[in-house]
Amino acid sequence: MNESYDAIIIGSGIGGAAVGGLLAHAGYKTLVLEKNAFIGGRCTSYQKDGFTVDVGVHLFGVADKGSLGDVCRRIGTPDAIDWVTIEKPILRVGNERKKYSRANMIGTMPQAESDKLASIFIKISQMTEDEIDRLWYVPLDQWVNQYTTHPQAHDFFDMINGQYFCVELNVASTAEFIRCFREVLAARSSAYPKGGCIAIPRAYLAAVERHGGKVMTKAGVDKVLVENKTAVGVRLKDGREFRAPIIISNADIKATVSDLVGTDHFPADYVNRIQNLTWSYHAIGLKVGLAEKITGDQLLMYRPYAKEEGEDRKGKLSPG
Ligand SMILES: Cc1cc2nc3c(=O)[nH]c(=O)nc-3n(C[C@H](O)[C@H](O)[C@H](O)COP(=O)(O)OP(=O)(O)OC[C@H]3O[C@@H](n4cnc5c(N)ncnc54)[C@H](O)[C@@H]3O)c2cc1C
Repeated sequence: MNESYDAIIIGSGIGGAAVGGLLAHAGYKTLVLEKNAFIGGRCTSYQKDGFTVDVGVHLFGVADKGSLGDVCRRIGTPDAIDWVTIEKPILRVGNERKKYSRANMIGTMPQAESDKLASIFIKISQMTEDEIDRLWYVPLDQWVNQYTTHPQAHDFFDMINGQYFCVELNVASTAEFIRCFREVLAARSSAYPKGGCIAIPRAYLAAVERHGGKVMTKAGVDKVLVENKTAVGVRLKDGREFRAPIIISNADIKATVSDLVGTDHFPADYVNRIQNLTWSYHAIGLKVGLAEKITGDQLLMYRPYAKEEGEDRKGKLSPG
């Protein structure tokens, strides 16, 4: 088989689905190929015993008012996702309960430290795009150290940064952190999509089909076809081939460079950089379905403040 498209996207994760929806809406005949039997990658859900179970992601810090909502607006279906907004998130610090807010988290620190953190947030809110761009390769811990080296302040950044990127402060990009932090502050729209997280890729991929494109599951790509130094198509594991002048990979960068395209097609220093990338945290999530509701809280964040107590927070369970 040799079908032609304007654009082929490898993977139906939230990234691939969003790009697919945007391209299809812009008039590109788009094909999305997903190796799994289900769409969404880490942003997916399944039904079990009357419960909707999210596989990976379960809460979005920037929902309707941020980039996720922007995609819906740009593909012409602003209300395609029905969001449940988190109105009153609760923070438990040790045994104390408060509203989950940056002010309350900062308030748990010594006065001198909370003043320093407040000045960091003012700095972040006032930085120009050029100033931020100069910080792409500055590790976040190094940048924070200019203002404070207090372990509780680092713990605070560690908690926010961990939620964004799942990496330690010393490998997080300061510019990337600041950009995300500013988007979260501007949007203030933590929310959960009704119907489970799969509702998001489903809304985006519906646009692909609405505009004459196709979404195929159980369609793992084995190779990106390269001719004259240009990606021209893909071959699936079952041998089928599809062609397009635009090939976008939503698979991870290592698999894309090493397996799908092949290292011969990239400069050696780039290949070296990609091959030296390491995986971020490993974690185990436990999801429990309850027969009855035990709390009116929509969201409960638990912060043991272990470092203050002389223990290491990492490796401990922090039920959320
Ligand atoms: C346990 C967990 C909890 C999380 N919690 C949150 C949270 O609360 N809030 C939040 O904002 N984020 C959270 N995240 C992060 C968020 O889920 C991810 O950042 C996001 O879903 C990644 O989307 P993606 O499109 O980049 O990649 P992926 O979801 O990984 O999508 C990649 C897709 O490509 C497909 N693919 C790969 N190779 C091929 C191939 N050769 N052929 C065809 N298809 C292929 C994969 O099957 C997959 O569907 C969490 C992640 C995990 C794992």
